[in-house]
Amino acid sequence: MGFFNRKKKEKPKKIPGEDEVACPNCGTLIHKDARMCYACGTMTK
Ligand SMILES: [Zn+2]
Repeated sequence: MGFFNRKKKEKPKKIPGEDEVACPNCGTLIHKDARMCYACGTMTK
């Protein structure tokens, strides 16, 4: 039954890089030079 005791895969921690910023709307990390969030379409500038 060992297979059922395995931990679920943990999501990697989101750490903003030097060139990344979090979308103000959805929190997705996007490039700081990106004009809009690719996930939700919110304009970043
Ligand atoms: Zn977004």
